[in-house]
Amino acid sequence: MYKLSCKMSIAIIFNALLVSILAAVLWKYVKLWEHAISLEEELMLSQQSQELSQVKIDYHAALQALKENGTRMVCTGRMHTERICRFESLCYSTEAEEFVFFHGNASILLPNLGSRRFQPALLDLSSVEDHTAQYFNFAELPVAALKFMQKPVFVPDVALIMNRFNPDNLMHIFHDDLLPIYYTMQQFPDLNEDSRLVFMEGWSEGLHFELYKLFSNKQPLLREQLKSLGNLLCFTKSYIGLSKMTTWYQYGFIQPQGPKANILVSGNEIRQFTQSLMEKMNITSGSSGEEYIVLFSRTINRLILNEAELILGLAQEFQMKTIAVSLDEYSFGDLVRLISRASMLVSMHGSQLVMALFLPRGAVVVELFPYAVNPEHYTPYKTLASLPSMDLQYVAWQNTKEENTITYPDKPWEQGGIAHLDRSEQERIIKSKEVPRHLCCRNPEWLFRIYQDTVVDIPSLKTTIHQSVKSKLPLRKIKARSLIYPGKVRDSMCQASVQSASEAKLSVSWQVPWNLRYLKVKEVNYEVWIQEQGENTYMPFILPHQNYTFVENIKPFTTYLVWIRCIFNKNLLGPFAEAMACNT
Ligand code: UDP
Repeated sequence: MYKLSCKMSIAIIFNALLVSILAAVLWKYVKLWEHAISLEEELMLSQQSQELSQVKIDYHAALQALKENGTRMVCTGRMHTERICRFESLCYSTEAEEFVFFHGNASILLPNLGSRRFQPALLDLSSVEDHTAQYFNFAELPVAALKFMQKPVFVPDVALIMNRFNPDNLMHIFHDDLLPIYYTMQQFPDLNEDSRLVFMEGWSEGLHFELYKLFSNKQPLLREQLKSLGNLLCFTKSYIGLSKMTTWYQYGFIQPQGPKANILVSGNEIRQFTQSLMEKMNITSGSSGEEYIVLFSRTINRLILNEAELILGLAQEFQMKTIAVSLDEYSFGDLVRLISRASMLVSMHGSQLVMALFLPRGAVVVELFPYAVNPEHYTPYKTLASLPSMDLQYVAWQNTKEENTITYPDKPWEQGGIAHLDRSEQERIIKSKEVPRHLCCRNPEWLFRIYQDTVVDIPSLKTTIHQSVKSKLPLRKIKARSLIYPGKVRDSMCQASVQSASEAKLSVSWQVPWNLRYLKVKEVNYEVWIQEQGENTYMPFILPHQNYTFVENIKPFTTYLVWIRCIFNKNLLGPFAEAMACNT
């Protein structure tokens, strides 16, 4: 019995041992198999990432970095409307259609806003300020969650991730996208021609995709395409958001449209941008010798009904060849080539007029407005042409003759039809002589009027142009000039003398600003403010010399504060030097 049981227990032990060895071997095998599969998967994903960008990527290292460090974010800008963020290892789930911030050992979030990140958003994805459809945020997960997700595909290029605002409209393309992309790339040195643009607004390529391709030698990615790349995409390095520094117009979402309140761009930056774009398109600027006018016409709507007559009229009046162009008959490059050498650009109000940014300095922009559309209320192109140093002359002409307009009340509403409105409202609109100021974007009265066709009254147009453009055409070429402001005046001094119990004199002198020594300035003036200490008001003076004796209203035994600044050519105001206290 004992022997038997002993034998049995040996067998049991032996069996158990065998099972566990087998289990261990099996486990090892499974692990090896898993590892092989994961290696194979990694190899495939790394090939995918490499194909995507032609950049060599150590997939395993990238994955390790994501797992160990997590996502890192550092931003510029205090408010969501001013913010651009730089990320390392930011991911995007194409299934959830959300960006994902993975919290790991080295994660940072600056600014760390807590739930203020949702009030209303981390940042604007487009350059249009505070537009609710353009907000950016991300979802959060711990890195441990990666275990349960499909392995990521890495995008190894430095990515600029953004929304295009309206890629079917040329004004929007330049103002909201191309200029902001160009200057966002100037702001961050690792955004360059090897970077990847990623458009998240969800549109297809749009009408002028070739323009977006000029900024990088890599094909921009559209949101739709991300799905085909993988389930989880991780951007090794990315910037999110666009600089708003160069935009000059607000489209009327919360108040009627108009120039932005605080324009921060000058013609110089606009022209540096167009210069760079033209180089990329292999277009050389410079005069072709012959002076000519470009009439930019629309072919679908908002037509000029007497175009042939207008071309003849302009040619005769200004003794210049007049060339009619349109977006559908000319390539973009040919349009740029023509406009960049034109003396005058004439066009109906519309996005094609943004091409004025390619006009040479000194050229004239003539914008035509249909009946009942007040030019003062729609000024994207006027604002552009009037930017300091843009050196363009702007002229607005409006059709004021009702008999010269053709309306389309029966068209669909988006083309200006008003048949869907109440009869009384239709009658009011038809009778109205001016579209009242309104918000964007579906005001039926505005659409009705802006989609009218016009017979241009040529004598009245000629008169309007001559009233604004005093100099004779062709205009002499204007050279680029940078605006140089005065520095502070130096070595200010004051000397006082008391004349009597009620009269005193105050002599003030100063030296020219340091930078004036190196400049040729036509006219130099000084502005001097004198304030009796303790008083709120001051006496301002504009003086051409570097010293002056003040007599009027100067009291004896009084302390005066004196501020002095230099002014170049009437309008270039320098800074005030530190206030000087003078006792009489
Ligand atoms: N467009 C065009 N020819 C036309 C009408 C429109 O090329 O006859 C283009 C126009 O330049 C713009 C887009 O189609 O890029 C949308 O035009 P819309 O009238 O909506 O905008 P707007 O030009 O008034 O900004």
